[in-house]
Amino acid sequence: MEKKYINRNYCCFVCEQNYDQLDQLKLHIISEHKEGDDYVICPSCQMPARDLLVHYRSKHIGESIPPGTQSRALIIRDIKKKEEKQKQRSLNSNKEIFILKRTTATYSLEVV
Ligand SMILES: [Zn+2]
Ligand SMILES: [Zn+2]
Repeated sequence: MEKKYINRNYCCFVCEQNYDQLDQLKLHIISEHKEGDDYVICPSCQMPARDLLVHYRSKHIGESIPPGTQSRALIIRDIKKKEEKQKQRSLNSNKEIFILKRTTATYSLEVV
């Protein structure tokens, strides 16, 4: 059984360029972008990351960032996020129908 790895597109978190391989992306970030400003290097796996807290949370679960390490890039550019269309949930308003039972008590006042 052959296990075929589907090429994931690695997207540069600084300039949004896509790369087929993680090594290519890594090289690109290191050569094109500025360490400290645009990215920080993970002390654990030497991978450029924008935010080590986020990186650690997904790649090094349980580990903590060594003290004194710059945890995130200084310049964080806004990458156009795919506009997530918020599905407007049609609220099924379960209107509770209060049936007010009116007790119509008729008092017949007998006037003597
Ligand atoms: Zn880039
Ligand atoms: Zn790492």
